[in-house]
Amino acid sequence: MSQASTLFRLQQIDSQMDTLRARLAELEELLKDQAALQAAQEKARQAEAQLEEDQKKLRHAETQVQDHRFKIEQDESTLYSGKIRNPKELQDLQHEVASLRNYLAILEDRQLELMMVVEESEKALLAARQELLTVQARTVEQNAQLLSEKSNHLRSLERLEIERQAASAALTAEELQLYTQLRQSRRGVAVARIVDRTCSACGAMLTPALIQSASSPTVMARCATCGRILFPG
Ligand SMILES: [Zn+2]
Repeated sequence: MSQASTLFRLQQIDSQMDTLRARLAELEELLKDQAALQAAQEKARQAEAQLEEDQKKLRHAETQVQDHRFKIEQDESTLYSGKIRNPKELQDLQHEVASLRNYLAILEDRQLELMMVVEESEKALLAARQELLTVQARTVEQNAQLLSEKSNHLRSLERLEIERQAASAALTAEELQLYTQLRQSRRGVAVARIVDRTCSACGAMLTPALIQSASSPTVMARCATCGRILFPG
């Protein structure tokens, strides 16, 4: 195998490894991103807090209704006990019972309204919890897919690393150094294939002499325009 083809093989390996590493970085970001799950959790928490608040209001309204009924019962039992003989006093008590009954109706309406509010809050909480379960299940499934892709890529990287070492071992220290420098300065591509008498990396036309020297197993030809190592392909 000529040096140019070994360098080209090394380039192919490194390009694959670059792609895999970029995808692995993306996968890490996707695995970290739990925005949908956090939003669903927050919604469920808010629905829970809302229900608690509404239930508290309802309990307060229920207590008010009970206290009021008790007061009416007491007044009525006094009224019908025959203990009060003074007509003025009796009339006052009758008025009091009447106004207590009016107010009881208002309190009972409020209680009924709050019962409906609590019912709505319960429904909202149920829906929020259901949504959370759905999002949780979806997240677990997505994460499993991402993790499986990640482990596949890690295995591929290990295999490529071994191939990379084998290819590197066939090159001299100078060749490797040039290759590494070109990779760094030429956006990751140090070796370019010759396609239609042009450098496939920068598109420059190559002289017949350069193309000929690129085919020689002993000479390392480089593109006159971009400086990349040429591989006849
Ligand atoms: Zn070039």
